[in-house]
Amino acid sequence: MFARNENIEPLASKVWLSSPTMHGEEMKYMAQAYETNWMSTIGANIDAVEGMICEKVGCRYAVALSAGTASLHMAVKLAGVKPGERVFCSDMTFAATVNPVVYEGGLPVFIDTEYDTWNMDPVALEKAFAIYPEVRVVVAAHLYGTPGKVDELKAVCDRHKAILIEDAAESLGATYKGVQTGRFGQIGCISFNGNKIITGSSGGMLLTEDREAANKVRKWSTQSREKAAWYQHEELGYNYRMSNVIAGVIRGQIPYLETHIAQKKAIYERYQEGFRDLPVQMNPFDKANSEPNFWLSCLLLDKEAMCPQVRSECEALYTPLHGKSCPMEILEAVGSIGAEGRPIWKPMHMQPIYRMHGFVTREGGGRGQSNAYLEGDAMGKDGKPLDVGMDIFQRGLCLPSDNKMTWEQQSKIIAAVRACFG
Ligand SMILES: *Cc1c(COP(=O)(O)O)cnc(C)c1O
Repeated sequence: MFARNENIEPLASKVWLSSPTMHGEEMKYMAQAYETNWMSTIGANIDAVEGMICEKVGCRYAVALSAGTASLHMAVKLAGVKPGERVFCSDMTFAATVNPVVYEGGLPVFIDTEYDTWNMDPVALEKAFAIYPEVRVVVAAHLYGTPGKVDELKAVCDRHKAILIEDAAESLGATYKGVQTGRFGQIGCISFNGNKIITGSSGGMLLTEDREAANKVRKWSTQSREKAAWYQHEELGYNYRMSNVIAGVIRGQIPYLETHIAQKKAIYERYQEGFRDLPVQMNPFDKANSEPNFWLSCLLLDKEAMCPQVRSECEALYTPLHGKSCPMEILEAVGSIGAEGRPIWKPMHMQPIYRMHGFVTREGGGRGQSNAYLEGDAMGKDGKPLDVGMDIFQRGLCLPSDNKMTWEQQSKIIAAVRACFG
């Protein structure tokens, strides 16, 4: 195959997209759980991390759970989503934003993305309420650690008296107008999965101002036991509570959140500088109002800089062209020197499992829905993209963003990307 980067030396050690970064204290708190024999879902580490996150994010209650997905499930249950009920969801996001709606029998309706922050488009959300005025729950994510258009989204939700569930799984530590993400919705969800900005290897939390809601989630997540000497149940229960050992890892990590953000920001800025003269832009954010956590650095190729690229459901083909490139070529180039990138999260309305669901763009109906998988066709006949999510998926990619990446490793990655435009 065509190797424009053949003179770039491979990296001595692999650079991951985003891998755990441990500091030592994690071991201390895990050992404490072991030594005190609090090896279950009760213990000092759990209490400590709930308190630390409340303080950091500025919320009143945080309930430690086994995963971010579990916290989203509990959020959907708290919102009272009933079987057959439509729920508006971010479209360009990880499937875990959306799946918990289906766990409760709800029907996700996807809201298209805006170009300014790559999150749910408030204009499309307003359109969606015109089409489905009965909807009362919205699930919105902050993709790649970049806060969405919070004020606008909240205003639309308030106007239609809808509950906002905020998926801040990727954005812990990011702020909008000085306030931490996870605080804007009636319910916030965060994640400590292995690739997130701080991690417990797994884990998540549900954030709320409502004491009763927090207590319900504590009960549901520990099998909904009633106060009785025997196992007494009035409600459906779940085994979703966080382990005290996992909480030990998170307890050791939380003090390093700001360090990780600073490292990720430096990586983002270096990429931005390194690609200044290329026909690309970095994942954008609202500089006036928000400070991302820079979890992942991403690239979006200019339309004119795209070489022909076609993707079927699970495969991609492209034709290299002088001065042009495409996400798959760049990912292969970066991979060939031993660094891990990733395509943009494939929008939910393009996923086989969700293709029959509603999808609303700024214009109203989703034009790209039925033929979404033939992406050679991402542009409509009028030259405008069928929808924003599909367009960003077509032209975008996530760059290696591990905070342990060295200056030299990043230099080589930048060189490999630049070579693709040779
Ligand atoms: C990681 C992630 C989740 C799920 O969190 P887990 O802890 O992996 O269950 C949910 N939403 C988004 C946007 C995520 O990136």
